[in-house]
Amino acid sequence: MPHLYLHIPFCKQACHYCDFHFSTSQQRRGEMTDALIAELGMRKNELPAVSLETVYFGGGTPSLLTGDELMRIFEAIGENFSLAPDAEITLEANPDDLTDAYLRTLRHTPVNRLSIGIQSFRDDDLQLMNRAHTAADAKRVVQRAQDAGITNLSVDLIYGIPGLSNAAWLRNLDEAFSLGMQHLSCYNLTVEPKTALAWQVAKGFVRAPDDALCEQQFILLTERAADAGFVHYEISNFSLPGWEARHNSSYWKNKPYLGLGPSAHSYNGNQRSHNIANNSEYLRRIAAGQTAATVEELSPNERYNEFVLTRLRTSWGIEETELNSRFAEFAPNFHTEATPWLRSGDMRFENGKWFLSPAGKLLADRIAAALFVV
Ligand code: SF4
Repeated sequence: MPHLYLHIPFCKQACHYCDFHFSTSQQRRGEMTDALIAELGMRKNELPAVSLETVYFGGGTPSLLTGDELMRIFEAIGENFSLAPDAEITLEANPDDLTDAYLRTLRHTPVNRLSIGIQSFRDDDLQLMNRAHTAADAKRVVQRAQDAGITNLSVDLIYGIPGLSNAAWLRNLDEAFSLGMQHLSCYNLTVEPKTALAWQVAKGFVRAPDDALCEQQFILLTERAADAGFVHYEISNFSLPGWEARHNSSYWKNKPYLGLGPSAHSYNGNQRSHNIANNSEYLRRIAAGQTAATVEELSPNERYNEFVLTRLRTSWGIEETELNSRFAEFAPNFHTEATPWLRSGDMRFENGKWFLSPAGKLLADRIAAALFVV
């Protein structure tokens, strides 16, 4: 079943590390809602005519949408698609937006899962990253969502933040696992080019994240998650058994999805497309009835490389039978290149599947690059 992504390109303020597409001016939010609805109608035939399995509001900050704006989008989704009865419908949300009133509003929409950008329970970290919320907001928000009746919850945390010791990271993890959420996504702080953080690091105002510390904190994360009964099902993602993110899993399983809104990506198995990452130009094109997407035909090599890159990051790994049936011409290269990683213990081959060992997860990108064909 297919998947739908909607990119909401607005944020209250710019987090210093962020290189996603967003605007801090919300003046054109109403127009953007109209444009998303129009693009939905223009592109509905790009997905197979079967029920949507997941809908994901990402961004940016989707929790800036009002209840009315959300309901208008859901009405348009209902007019153009059908939703599977058990569809997973996720809204990314920042803690400062999840007031009791907003949570009550969400209860009257089809949203049934929140992915909450907590990032840290420490004010020092939140200020360094220029997050719009406080540690107190972060500590209260999950309970508030649960009290409001939204019980499928994911929390995002960041590690490797300069000044975040291993002991403080463990306290953040303990705080998170005490909340009773079902899903946890953790990313290490990376210094992306052209961000405020890159400028601060270059000027010496902020220390660059330390690679060795990031590695230690990743290992602490995997240990604490296992202690809490969470399955490490993708490099950056952990869940209680059966609570894996169905939408994100569709990306890692190479399932078709349609992405709407500025900068959104789409995939249909043979082509990948990306919408222009510019709000004004996106609005202009959609208003003119033009596409905002650039389509790229994937070569056999690219399809294979993408398969390797995404599957290797997951606990379900690369199935030998699928490798041989879908990518027979590349399978010999895969076996040759995988052998040294098997010998070093960074990859494993068990029950007909290739996957990364715990040590190999620290080298995921390097191992995938070695398995690629050019
Ligand atoms: S709220 Fe999210 S999308 Fe917006 S600037 Fe911060 S990290 Fe980026």
